Amino acid sequence: MRYVLRSSQGRGFAGQVFRLGRANGRRPVLATRSIAFATGHDAPGSFTTLSASSTDLQTILKITRLTPYLVPPRWLFLKIDTDEGISGWGEPIVEGRAHTVLTAVEELSDYLIGQDPLQIEQHWQAMYRGSFYRGGPVLMSAIAGVDQALWDIKGKYHDAPIHQLMGGKVRDRIRIYAWVGGETPEEIAKSAQNAIASGFSATKMVITGALQIVDSIAKVETAAAKVAGIRAAVGSDLDIAVDFHGRIHRPMAPVLIKAIEPYSPLFIEEPVLPEHLEFMADLRRNTHIPIATGERLFSRYDFKRLLTLGAADIVQPDLSHAGGITECKKIASMAEAWDVALAPHCPLGPIALAASLQVDATAHNAFIQEQSQGIAYNQSNDLTDYLVDPEVMHFEDGYIDIPDGPGLGIEINEEYVRQRAVQGHRWRNPLWHHDDGSIAEW
Ligand SMILES: [Mg+2]
Repeated sequence: MRYVLRSSQGRGFAGQVFRLGRANGRRPVLATRSIAFATGHDAPGSFTTLSASSTDLQTILKITRLTPYLVPPRWLFLKIDTDEGISGWGEPIVEGRAHTVLTAVEELSDYLIGQDPLQIEQHWQAMYRGSFYRGGPVLMSAIAGVDQALWDIKGKYHDAPIHQLMGGKVRDRIRIYAWVGGETPEEIAKSAQNAIASGFSATKMVITGALQIVDSIAKVETAAAKVAGIRAAVGSDLDIAVDFHGRIHRPMAPVLIKAIEPYSPLFIEEPVLPEHLEFMADLRRNTHIPIATGERLFSRYDFKRLLTLGAADIVQPDLSHAGGITECKKIASMAEAWDVALAPHCPLGPIALAASLQVDATAHNAFIQEQSQGIAYNQSNDLTDYLVDPEVMHFEDGYIDIPDGPGLGIEINEEYVRQRAVQGHRWRNPLWHHDDGSIAEW
């Protein structure tokens, strides 16, 4: 693009435009481009940009390659390279459908190769609106992983954390919760005491197995006894969120909610499946416990329906499922307008968590962050195994710091990622059956 300037001095001259570039993802360098100036007759001593008279602006960065890595325990990492040596990482994944999302990312590469990675909003719109069929877990997770990697590149290019590029952070750290588990009330109470000993002040737990559409009160009482067991063991020292996991159908959900209300859970998650947001709104109107949902909603448009129905007090978009940083920041702002809280879903890997923390940093309504350290799925590899410096995900007093390094604020150990990608994975969620042989919700 050629800029034509005018000066009242009536002198024409040639100049250069200086743009900050980056040679290796770390240190700024000056890139120069010759530009011609013409003279004009504005106020004395002033220079005014009048017009852009040609279209010869060269893109400084170009996307050159997308490299997926399928790694244990059940994750998919994506590395996007550029011609300037800056690379970004994303985590495009739907748990149990990693290969399907990988194919969706591969299809997006037809558009992405050769593009300027800094034009994130434009690419987001192209990936979303450029496809006649859109939305849903697979396509939105593919976009999410690409979007995270583009933001990582942009941050490294500007030598700034992503939250700085989004307006700056409103908090230095955010509360996190640990998972507690066990079959008996005693085992669960012990698990909760361990969480407190590790510095956590909040936990989440799943309290039921499969429940049929209408089921026994004995199962409800067993579930409620688990929450009661924790309260008896730790009093009010621990906040306890309860995840129904979408396992409970409409007829049983109010029964289970009423059974655990006396133990004051922090929130109740997915009290019914997100397919039933209308019923979720009914449940919310009939309990004083905050209702949370959102890990199986994938765009602003899905969340628009949730918020319009008044179905939740807490939204839980997943940074790797709901269109990435670009879309989840917008979802957070929509929720803020309804005075609804934000608690991003994240039982995934370190890139997804780092992306979540960047949005948490800038969202006033964020109050707690999920994370997967020690979660049951993480047997072969855990949250920080793939990081060069695990300390950037430092937990203390039940909080995690917002990373302040450039981009996502984490550095991926690519050599180790390559090693583990040789093993890969084919993780699937379990398929459950009721006693009569019919399929159960997991
Ligand atoms: Mg959940």
